Parts: sequence; C-alpha cells; structure tokens
Amino acid sequence: MSRDATFSSEEVERYARHLVLRELGGPGQQRLKAARVLLVGAGGLGCVAAPLLAAAGVGVVGLVDPDVVSLSNLQRQTLYRTEDVGRLKVDCARERLGEINPHVQVEAHAVALTPEAADSIVADYDLVLDGTDDFATRFAVNEAAYQAGVALVSGAIERWTGQVGVFAAGLTRNQLPGQRKACYRCLTPDIPPDAETCARVGVVGALAGVIGAMMALEAIKLIVGAGEPLVGRLLIYDALSAETRTVRVPPDPACPVCQGDKSI
Ligand SMILES: [Zn+2]
Repeated sequence: MSRDATFSSEEVERYARHLVLRELGGPGQQRLKAARVLLVGAGGLGCVAAPLLAAAGVGVVGLVDPDVVSLSNLQRQTLYRTEDVGRLKVDCARERLGEINPHVQVEAHAVALTPEAADSIVADYDLVLDGTDDFATRFAVNEAAYQAGVALVSGAIERWTGQVGVFAAGLTRNQLPGQRKACYRCLTPDIPPDAETCARVGVVGALAGVIGAMMALEAIKLIVGAGEPLVGRLLIYDALSAETRTVRVPPDPACPVCQGDKSI
C-alpha cells in the first residue's frame, strides 16, 4: 500500500461524501486507492460487493470466477443483464466496474480457484473477499489467505439466512498463540455432511444485497482502519424474522490450517 495516491479534482468531487467522514477522510480514501482487493466468486455476493468497492475507490479489484452468466443467475446477480447470458461473468463485471469508476483497475481471473491457483493469485492482493458457495473453494481461499498473511472477509447465503465474518488469522499468524485470531477452518473444520447449494435449496435474491454489502463494508473498514471489523465474530442474519445475532469465533486449537503451523 505504498503507491502514491494523490487525487485529481474529479476524484475529490467523486469521493466527497467519504472525504467528510471523520473515520475515513483523505487518509482513508488514499488507503482505498492504494488497496488491492481480491473478490473470489462473481455470483450473488460478488455482484453486490464488487460495484460497491469500485464505487468506493478501491485501486485494484481482482475478480475470480470461471463461470458464464446463466438465466437463473439474474434473480440475484444484479451486475448482469439479460443479454449477458452466455458471457464470462468476469468480463461482464469488468465492463460494469469500469463504467462505475474509471479510476479502478479491474483484474479478471476466469479460473476456478484450486489450491494451486489460490496461492499464486491471492499472494498479489492485500485483502480477500470470498463469496463462493462451495466448501472446497472456501477452504482453498482460506488457506491461501492465511499463507499470504492477509485477512479474509467471508460471506454466505442460503434460503433466507446469511452470514458474514472476518477471519484475520493470516494477519495475526506471527503473534503469540493467545493473541491469534480464527481462520475460516476454525469455524468450519470439515465440509458439513448436510452441505447444500443454493441451486438445490434456493435463496432469496435480495439477501445477496444485504450480505454482499456487509462484505464490502467490512472490507472498507479493514482498509481504512475504521471502527471494529467483524474479526473473530460471525454475524448471522435471519431475513424471515428480520433479526441478527453475532457469535464469537475463537481460534480452534485443533485447526488444521492456522494451528498446525509449526513454522512460527
Ligand atoms: Zn484456523
């Protein structure tokens, strides 16, 4: 985050509502401009988080998704249009983000995030957001974020319930065991036997808007150093009852990722 970040008069006007915020201001906006944020998954959550990060002035937004837009995506993946069906999601998203904010550099990765790909891609970024819906990819992203020493903002939606949390084990891996934060595998050690996908059980589209926006907001808080990000906590939103609860996520001493690291 050392690149020079001076603003043109156009940018000063564009970011005016940020610049007057006490917790963000000029220094925060410079941090946003210098930040490199990776979004894994350009589905429902990514479609909401990505334009918010681009509009906010994040300097580099990386997008990872191997899929093309399908008609059944459009109910919640609001970055895409009907005529985009059949096109690569990352190509469509790159165009839209460029239209929202030409100052943002978008890096499109039309690949599946296997563990091997995750390590090399994640290492290029300061912060990772995971909005994918399969556990194998979530585990690969978590491990890569931990190894790269960056925080992971994780979101998930299913039916009428969503959750978002910040896993900062990568940031705290060099600290004493008692001061380390949880990684995603501390919360979910193994793929749950009852794991289901949105394709099978459904998801209400507007829920992607809520959780995707919370992911973007947590990312902005982490980048500018505002408030208390959801580090070590998981926020669960039950849309049917319109209630939220936040639970603590402590590091798991038996975690296969962040506690088995004997190199420290
Ligand atoms: Zn862990």
